[in-house]
Amino acid sequence: MTPTLLFLGTSDSKGVPRLGCECALCQSVRPSARDFRTRASLLLQATEGTILIDTPPEVRLRLAAEHRPAPDALFMTHPHDDHILGFSDVVRSARTMQRPLPIFAPAEVFTGLRDRFGYLWESPTWSQEAELTVLEGAIEVAGWRLEAIRVHHGRNGWAYGYLMERSGWRAGYFSDALHVSDEVLGRWQGLDLLILGANFWKEEAPLETRSVYDVQEAITVAQGASVRQLILTHLSHKIEYATISPLLPSWASLAWDGRLIQISPIERTNPDEADGTNSTSSPDALYP
Ligand SMILES: [Zn+2]
Ligand SMILES: [Zn+2]
Repeated sequence: MTPTLLFLGTSDSKGVPRLGCECALCQSVRPSARDFRTRASLLLQATEGTILIDTPPEVRLRLAAEHRPAPDALFMTHPHDDHILGFSDVVRSARTMQRPLPIFAPAEVFTGLRDRFGYLWESPTWSQEAELTVLEGAIEVAGWRLEAIRVHHGRNGWAYGYLMERSGWRAGYFSDALHVSDEVLGRWQGLDLLILGANFWKEEAPLETRSVYDVQEAITVAQGASVRQLILTHLSHKIEYATISPLLPSWASLAWDGRLIQISPIERTNPDEADGTNSTSSPDALYP
């Protein structure tokens, strides 16, 4: 099978529609619309198996809706509700599958998870359900090379994102980041695909109250890092697909729940492109 990335969820922390909101989008959006969003997670699929990044509250329902199996491995970015509230649903699939679920995260992410889900850790069957690996540096799982990268998450402190590599194709998944360090920007340099969280088109709130890039900042950052493609996720109710999409450069686009990216080997005929200038070729050429 062609390796794929599937956006299971693409919303900011509150979901779209946002509960209690009377804005036009929240009032009108219906399931199956591109603006109907569940909390952010990503599924990597390949012949060797399936990797899930994050377990938002809706993850079990989203896996079912997309007809996807329980994942073979789980990677976690940070212990905030919108990324973890489906954790026990996914971990408990291990019982049904009759094998422990390999779970990968940096140590401080596991600490946060244990604070929230201590009852799982204390369960007598925990060792049959979960096989924990503390990430230090890159790791090879199911044909992918993944590396956790710690990023600044504004007023929310810190989060991790993942660099993902497969057959020379390099991508980054950073759903929750703001004003990352020069060192992290260096790691994004020339990526074939950067997936970046952006809550709003332009966020007017004071910097100290913010936690994620806005769309315009994300484009500037991606341009600075000369990534070939940018896909924006972690989108709020203020991002209307039909309005915002036409405003993006040709190499940038919005994610939606159920968006599937097929990873095909990239032909780099132009040597200048090999070191990662923003591609002007059609995204469809890269991701048929
Ligand atoms: Zn988040
Ligand atoms: Zn709203």
